[in-house]
Amino acid sequence: MKRLVLLGGGHAHLQVLRAFAREPVRGARIWLVTPSPRLLYSGMVPGLVAGHYSAADCSIALAPLAAQAGVEFVQGAACALDAGARLLRLADGRELGYDALSVDIGSAMDRDAIPGAREHGLFVRPIEAFALRLGELMARRAAQPEPGAPIAVVGGGAAGFELALALRWRLRAPVDLVSGAAGPLALYPRAVQRLGLRALARHGVRVHRAPCRALHRNAVELGSGERLACDAAVIAVGGGAPQWLGASGLALDAQGFIETGPTLQSVSHGEVFAAGDIASRVDAPRPRSGVYAVRAGPPLAANLRRCVAHRGAGMQAYRPQRRSLNLLACGEQRAIVSWGALAAEGRWAWRWKDRIDRAFVAAFGAAQATP
Ligand SMILES: Cc1cc2nc3c(=O)[nH]c(=O)nc-3n(C[C@H](O)[C@H](O)[C@H](O)COP(=O)(O)OP(=O)(O)OC[C@H]3O[C@@H](n4cnc5c(N)ncnc54)[C@H](O)[C@@H]3O)c2cc1C
Repeated sequence: MKRLVLLGGGHAHLQVLRAFAREPVRGARIWLVTPSPRLLYSGMVPGLVAGHYSAADCSIALAPLAAQAGVEFVQGAACALDAGARLLRLADGRELGYDALSVDIGSAMDRDAIPGAREHGLFVRPIEAFALRLGELMARRAAQPEPGAPIAVVGGGAAGFELALALRWRLRAPVDLVSGAAGPLALYPRAVQRLGLRALARHGVRVHRAPCRALHRNAVELGSGERLACDAAVIAVGGGAPQWLGASGLALDAQGFIETGPTLQSVSHGEVFAAGDIASRVDAPRPRSGVYAVRAGPPLAANLRRCVAHRGAGMQAYRPQRRSLNLLACGEQRAIVSWGALAAEGRWAWRWKDRIDRAFVAAFGAAQATP
């Protein structure tokens, strides 16, 4: 009997579990290893922060999905991989051998990239821990007089932009967005940047086009040395790869992500697959986004099935789309929608985003979740 380990309960593995539930994999014992029994759907996290959703609205229960697919659920986090020995080690000391491994663990945040961030920062990843700590912050501030001390958000990408507006909307307190010299949404087309800046200005979010040099207790230090007083600093800078992958023996790119080819197989170890943010395609560079993880799911499921059943013959190629629909939440129930260089903003765009996001969670059965 072949042993297949699905590492991480990310977006691609949701699709894999669904495919395995529809058509069981014969002749294999399969495990899903992930730290939390639920996945908080990241696309709805800004709406959760803004108060438009409850945690249950945004949660996907992983254990029942695994059970439906005939997959054993293991609650745990990998901390080491020996790809040569085909052995995975978990943080609690357990070890799992495998014949095939699929990695969909998202990205990790380097807690030491900004001095002081480990002690004073509120990191957006892991999202579960972020939601918990944010809930504590909200509860503490609810007991304080309005509007309270400012909140800082470090990171000018989509997550930083959406969270700055969500926090401003929810807490009504001053919010400082530290976006780096390039400004908010710098990797987006001009039309999106323009609409984004307009939304930030409408809500009175103060934008600092400067790098964050360090975090202190109740202050963010900018590159210029200026200090912004804050009650909490949310760290929403881009994620990297976890350090433990560095010693795995897998071929990795310069940032430490797993190099894969079109069939989502590691270029160095054909029995290892990777999808989502943790994967780096050697043939098709692309921006990191949940859309690509979701779309990689069906070919990943087909290829894992072939890998355990037919020794790898007839693998499917996954070709990431060059463009995808992009929706950014703007705090209140408005959103920016974009397709390539075209962009528009409004309440209708939020309703569109809301429908898509709720349908995504509902497709996997919403979880009973605690905040
Ligand atoms: C606030 C916020 C908002 C965002 N909004 C959007 C959006 O609107 N649209 C969009 O396209 N993208 C959005 N993103 C980016 C998006 O979250 C990622 O691109 C997407 O989640 C990647 O999916 P994934 O499957 O690679 O990993 P993830 O969805 O991150 O899932 C990773 C899974 O692996 C588990 N895991 C992690 N480490 C380990 C380990 N060591 N061992 C075992 N399991 C592990 C995690 O617990 C999790 O279950 C947002 C990100 C944030 C932070």
